[in-house]
Amino acid sequence: MKIAMIGTGYVGLVSGVCFSDFGHEVVCVDKDPAKIEKLLRGEVPIYEPGLEQLMAKNVAAGRLSFTLDLAAAVAGADAVFIAVGTPTRRGDGHADLRYVMAAAEEIGAALTGYTVVVTKSTVPVGTNRKVAEAVARTAGDTPFDVASNPEFLREGAAIDDFMRPDRVVVGVENDRARKTMADIYRPLSLREFPVVYTNLESAEMIKYAANAFLATKITFINEIARLCEKVGADVKAVSKGIGMDGRIGSKFLHAGPGYGGSCFPKDTKALARIGQDHAVPMQITETVIRVNDEIKHRMIEKIEDLCDGALRDKVITILGVTFKPNTDDMRDAPSLTIIPALVGAGAKVRVVDPQGRHEGEALLPGVKWVESAYGAAQGADLLVLLTEWNEFRALDLGKLAKKMAHPRLADLRNVYDRDEVLAAGFETYVGVGR
Ligand code: NAD
Repeated sequence: MKIAMIGTGYVGLVSGVCFSDFGHEVVCVDKDPAKIEKLLRGEVPIYEPGLEQLMAKNVAAGRLSFTLDLAAAVAGADAVFIAVGTPTRRGDGHADLRYVMAAAEEIGAALTGYTVVVTKSTVPVGTNRKVAEAVARTAGDTPFDVASNPEFLREGAAIDDFMRPDRVVVGVENDRARKTMADIYRPLSLREFPVVYTNLESAEMIKYAANAFLATKITFINEIARLCEKVGADVKAVSKGIGMDGRIGSKFLHAGPGYGGSCFPKDTKALARIGQDHAVPMQITETVIRVNDEIKHRMIEKIEDLCDGALRDKVITILGVTFKPNTDDMRDAPSLTIIPALVGAGAKVRVVDPQGRHEGEALLPGVKWVESAYGAAQGADLLVLLTEWNEFRALDLGKLAKKMAHPRLADLRNVYDRDEVLAAGFETYVGVGR
């Protein structure tokens, strides 16, 4: 199959590389010349484990290429995937569809024969029909179909998620489009990963419902964690105890500083807006958004309490600023709420992150970037574990405690045991929900 992938961000690039690894002929398009130049040099513009090697393998095999020229990539393609951003629109919480619609019109003008135009971006219910209208406006008599194919990969584990998905969701309106999509995903269905076919609206809804459900699950355990702190329970034990129930499941039950990232915050907000537009308020999702915000602010209070109620001039070392480990993505990371509040209150904040500096430097003014946790702990009043990168999971606690002016640990990911931390020489340990 010949595929054009429009947008080479976290989703488009991983999808394009993986499709080429299936054996398809893939051209990845972006309108950002800097990204395309990097890709043509064999460099990956984002941090995603394993992507550079897989990309190099498929470029060398002649199945994968990159271009700024959308029309050349679309001409002759069996399917064109739209994988551009759908950020929150300023002011009203809706998904901003301007990039999707601009791409759709450009694609329509470039079609040369029957093509399936597939929306991979996360888009509100009803958008694929608008995409069809936008393509039709410029396509003339060239036949095409639209399909909805939301993506469920997680940054940091994106290749494995794409290659071994729990399911692939495909919304189509006729057999011809379904056959094209089945041919594209055949390598996965042969390996018995299920492909779920639905209509366009259901496929669009599945993506928002899935993300809102996961955001709810995280927020639920974060709220339980808060109660655990008051009643003497340990949320880690509670998560284990409830997660072993097959109806509940153990994933997404880790208490922490609140969800962030490029999807949950914007997708929960967009779902709330879709509900309002249809006079069906998404009351649970709206509450989740509010509670998650409160949780992030509660982390600031936790840190302030650990600093004896006064943040001014306290030296605080933050380990991890990306929204989760194994990505350089800073979009809506909890660090962007927590760190500016500390800096604003007069704390001297040092930051360590294996991949976060490139994006984070502009977003976190007033902090000092340090290469290693041990260097950053020198003379510090408090250590805050905010993102659980592997290199922060097995720290030499004794060495850290000796370097710090006041060895105190706020473990916002519950990585360490209180007894072990205290035995290593720390004077205080605080986790989340324990
Ligand atoms: P991103 O911002 O990383 O990438 C989008 C890319 O599209 C950018 O490189 C941009 O330059 C390019 N682009 C925009 N308009 C274009 C045009 N007209 N022609 C060519 N290129 C264009 O975004 P992302 O994180 O990859 O997300 C893309 C979509 O996938 C979003 O709807 C998102 O909600 C969804 N999604 C993201 C994830 C994730 O983990 N990031 C997971 C599942 C779904």
